[in-house]
Amino acid sequence: MAPLTDMYCEELKRALYGRLRFLRELGISEIYRREVDPIQWAQPNIAANVTVNASPSLEQFGRAPDHPSQHLFEENAIAPRKPFPAPPAQPEALPPEQHFAALKLIQEEIGDCTRCGLSQTRNKIVFGDGDSNAKLMFVGEGPGADEDASGLPFVGRGGQLLNNMINAMGLKREQVYIANVVKCRPPGNRTPEPDEANTCSPFLFKQIDVVRPQVLVALGQTAVTYLTGEKRPMSGWRGSVHPLRGTKLIVTYHPAYLLRDPTQKRAAWQDLQLAMRELGLKPAGKE
Ligand code: URA
Repeated sequence: MAPLTDMYCEELKRALYGRLRFLRELGISEIYRREVDPIQWAQPNIAANVTVNASPSLEQFGRAPDHPSQHLFEENAIAPRKPFPAPPAQPEALPPEQHFAALKLIQEEIGDCTRCGLSQTRNKIVFGDGDSNAKLMFVGEGPGADEDASGLPFVGRGGQLLNNMINAMGLKREQVYIANVVKCRPPGNRTPEPDEANTCSPFLFKQIDVVRPQVLVALGQTAVTYLTGEKRPMSGWRGSVHPLRGTKLIVTYHPAYLLRDPTQKRAAWQDLQLAMRELGLKPAGKE
């Protein structure tokens, strides 16, 4: 078999890095290697046929158990994704009359936060809003410009849509609780960086543990990723109920996404109907 040259190995490694990064961005983090018949590897045309620019598929590069280039195919060829930190342990539930004060204490603990870089560009910390005894809680990604200016979550265009969604469920906004993964606006409304989200999310978990909603609705991929510590495509979350910290997690699209693609509103409504079933609610106007 033709030896793999160093230059070839480097190019192959770069191509595989690119492919793995792409798959990871799609939310695919588990990749399985198909065993390859070692006899097949003895055929010189396997290495010779590969042109790195043609973006080789992973199937094409199965592992040859004792092959000298085996390290190319090991998972540690790409640095493992930083694991999500373990969420804080869940304390005992508080009596409902203590919820409001307990949320205030969390807000005081956050204080004039400088724990991450978002503090340098934010105007107001957006702690959360709503009924501290709510049966239904929504979790978004992070404040936008309107929220950064007002200090309240979901008050911009996305907030108007969220209010309509809440009303369609037969509820008023004041009856639910709303918070975000990060409490300060990411510049330009970019997705929060993992260190920002991981620094801030313990406060979100504390809020959830105080409110103890029956149903928690994650709005979009960022919210569900940091709530669960698991990255999956939205299709892997939607349509079922996931137990989380004693509540029922239901996942739907972020209102900003629905504003960009209104055809998805029907699917979002199905998600909200699932939440309503869990809460024993009937749609607005239906007794
Ligand atoms: N988008 C969010 O995720 N949260 C807000 O509070 C506003 C917009």
